[in-house]
Amino acid sequence: MTREATLIAGDGIGPEITAATLQVLDALGVQFDWDEQYGGMAAVEKAGTPLPNATLDSIRRTKLALKGPLTTPVGGGYRSVNVALRQEFDLYANVRPTKTIVPGGRYENIDLVIIRENTEGLYVGLDHSFRVGDDPKAVVQAMSVMTREGCRRVCKYAFEYAKLHGRKKVTIVHKANILKATSALFLETGRQIAKEYEGVVMCDDKIVDNAAMQLVIKPEQFDVIVTTNLFGDILSDEASGLVGGLGLAPGANIGTRAAIFEAVHGSAPDIAGQGIANPSAQLLAAAMMLDHIGETAAAGRLRQALAAAIVKDNVRTKDLGGSASTSDFARAVVKRV
Ligand code: NAD
Repeated sequence: MTREATLIAGDGIGPEITAATLQVLDALGVQFDWDEQYGGMAAVEKAGTPLPNATLDSIRRTKLALKGPLTTPVGGGYRSVNVALRQEFDLYANVRPTKTIVPGGRYENIDLVIIRENTEGLYVGLDHSFRVGDDPKAVVQAMSVMTREGCRRVCKYAFEYAKLHGRKKVTIVHKANILKATSALFLETGRQIAKEYEGVVMCDDKIVDNAAMQLVIKPEQFDVIVTTNLFGDILSDEASGLVGGLGLAPGANIGTRAAIFEAVHGSAPDIAGQGIANPSAQLLAAAMMLDHIGETAAAGRLRQALAAAIVKDNVRTKDLGGSASTSDFARAVVKRV
């Protein structure tokens, strides 16, 4: 059966890793009818806006998208298209697994999942500057907005995810000692949800600074982490560092109206256009997309082929200490498929 899905190749290394991913999906024999759309800088160049209506209409129709990274200007410029997509489609759970593939790294057998609240907190966009005298930015303010329902649904998602995937523990990561309204509501709600899973999924909680330290000291104590938007963003990049870096970190943005799959990393402007990016994160995001649509056997074959290309065939991109190009790596995975 052919499944319709939206494809956004993205900015920077996006087109390179997306081409590699399409090659592997083709080899797997899973049929997608791709509706190719634009976002970010590529869309500004093509359509004069970073998030064209055609892109939104496409995702509204297909409810399923594979997306490359989109550049967000730092400081000024347009607001993040990634954040806009998550808010537009209410993609409230950002699922970011970290799993060891490459042996012999600083850590072995890492296997944890960060579930990040994806629509609230400091990402709501209430970020203002206030003029005092002739300084237009004399005072700046950012507002974090969280709702009980927003906390409830992502914590519920994390416990359900743990139950469904045979995971033993959910750790609620917060800063309720300082953020006594926002982060405290998240912790309180998480603990309430935990009661519904007593005897099925264990629960503990940690303050975010301690959690960040514990992740590098004793990562094996973590199983599923559920946390708020900004903490989840930072901790998931940190977690990817435990297994070899951002080139191996996939993510899924899940909501009730749509799901968008992407790598955790950004558009990597420092290596864009050189053909050396590691497409593994995007390939693993495609595997999560296959799981999502029920193609679990194909997802398993993709993960196995990717691991075999890296571990058995020793085909590795530069970030993993090798010299393979993006397309060399794609070919190696296709061969394994
Ligand atoms: P980045 O993730 O793009 O890059 C960080 C570092 O990791 C760079 O040195 C880069 O070369 C390396 N890296 C990333 N992906 C790699 C890969 N697949 N293979 C090999 N090396 C890889 O982060 P940044 O430089 O802070 O951000 C660049 C842009 O990306 C910014 O505009 C940012 O807003 C955007 N961004 C987008 C997303 C998204 O689309 N979901 C996520 C994060 C950042």
